[in-house]
Amino acid sequence: MRKAFLLFAAISAWLAATQPGLAQPVSTPHGTPGIERLYVLYCGDIALNDASSFTPGASGPGALSVTCYLIKHAQGWLLWDTGLPDSIVGMPDGMKSNAGVWTSKKTLASQLAELGLKPSDIRYLALSHSHPDHVGNLNLFPQATLVVQKAEYDWVAPFGGARFKPEQPATKLDGDHDVFGDGSVVLISTPGHSPGHQCLLVRLPKTGALLLTGDAVHTKANWDSHRVPERNFNVPQSLAALDRMAAVLKENNAQLWIGHETSEVALRRYAPDSYE
Ligand SMILES: [Zn+2]
Repeated sequence: MRKAFLLFAAISAWLAATQPGLAQPVSTPHGTPGIERLYVLYCGDIALNDASSFTPGASGPGALSVTCYLIKHAQGWLLWDTGLPDSIVGMPDGMKSNAGVWTSKKTLASQLAELGLKPSDIRYLALSHSHPDHVGNLNLFPQATLVVQKAEYDWVAPFGGARFKPEQPATKLDGDHDVFGDGSVVLISTPGHSPGHQCLLVRLPKTGALLLTGDAVHTKANWDSHRVPERNFNVPQSLAALDRMAAVLKENNAQLWIGHETSEVALRRYAPDSYE
């Protein structure tokens, strides 16, 4: 009987350790967190021919905001995603993509400059995933260390070959990762939209905890209805990612920040303003 109980306890412990989102807090901060502030950067706009391509059930044309985030930490600057390419700023008709048209009114480089930063000041480039509206300005940061999931790094590009330049320094992850070791900036593995998609949990001193979605969620309507686009790399994994995110939000009493949701992004205070 006791043997059976011990076996049951061991299996339960193993399940808790191997299944993300079950019970355990994502990370326990140790020491004084070195995070100072977070800036919201405007990284372009996407006009969609058909809103339902990203929001199942929607009709007519749609729009997605493109947002990047910059974090000031005592150990260095971290940029989360790089948005649409700066080269489209000033193109009168924008750039056609497979789902619509990309436009942008302001370069990422100019927003960094406004904060007194050069691209070479960025130490870490944490990427939600490798779709073009998230990696459009990678070439500005050849010295920065990519912080990506190995599954994303190794994902073959649509026309073959690699998604990242082999000479760029990279930390390839297999699961969650506490970037600075103090619990203030934690990557949360949420595969499904792409093979190595990840979200970013940011614990700010005054604002509290935020969960930056990347494309694990495109719109509030999707989050509210627990839906994901059919075009995602793996739909069941994407749905499991939503459950994982809900657990992370609860464990950390965090706000969900959906980077593509135009109605939410419109309410954000952009750089040079910031969230402490
Ligand atoms: Zn995407």
